[in-house]
Amino acid sequence: MTGRGFLPEGWGVQGEGGIAFVVTGPSGAGKSSVIGELLRRDGRLSFSVSATTRPRRPGEVHGRDYYFLSEEEFDGLIQRGELLEWTEYQGHRYGTPRSQVVDVLAQGRDVLLNVEVRGALAIARAGLPYPVVLVFMIPPTWEELAARIRARGTESEKALDARLAIAREEVRHIPEFHYLVVNDRLEEAVRQLEAIVIAERRRITRC
Ligand code: ADP
Ligand code: 5GP
Repeated sequence: MTGRGFLPEGWGVQGEGGIAFVVTGPSGAGKSSVIGELLRRDGRLSFSVSATTRPRRPGEVHGRDYYFLSEEEFDGLIQRGELLEWTEYQGHRYGTPRSQVVDVLAQGRDVLLNVEVRGALAIARAGLPYPVVLVFMIPPTWEELAARIRARGTESEKALDARLAIAREEVRHIPEFHYLVVNDRLEEAVRQLEAIVIAERRRITRC
């Protein structure tokens, strides 16, 4: 399976469709920050906007960061089979609209997703006729993880503890991923993710 672009047009062999880059990691690892910066730099990447029932945080925009839906609206997406995968995380539901991924990949554009571990592995197993690259992101230390969630100021102390407990479980899945990005300095983490995207676009064969 190949992504488009491993050969320039006119050479007679051409892959079709884009590549899905799935970025996972504990809440607070810096996924949104790194992804946001990479999207600004790489016009060929399309962000998969998830649907969620969690309340909007200050600064978040409906349709850009998430589709913020009611429980009933989310039920509708599930019933109509419009989600590629969905999960419950800390009392709220999150799901990947099929169209955000499949339609974009079919047009030959690459897609960047920000989903938790189970969602990432579900997307890898979904049988998409396009390459799926799994990237796990962690901060340099546990202490830094807790400090970043606190600094973001979006969670209560109880929710913070719950997110850290989930993180303990999530990191056990790192060996199932293709790449690890350590987000110590933001700029270096963006560079690492960008390097993965560039290398995967040049890949000829995949096993
Ligand atoms: P995630 O999307 O993985 O939950 P965020 O992108 O929301 O994480 O980042 C969590 C917090 O950490 C935010 O306040 C963000 O500004 C901060 N942050 C992200 N990357 C870094 C970094 N490399 N160094 C310091 N702070 C960071
Ligand atoms: P947050 O509430 O911090 O924005 O996100 C909580 C968790 O949900 C993060 O780990 C994020 O990656 C994950 N997430 C966001 N959208 C989706 C989605 O569509 N599917 C799945 N499985 N997880 C998601």
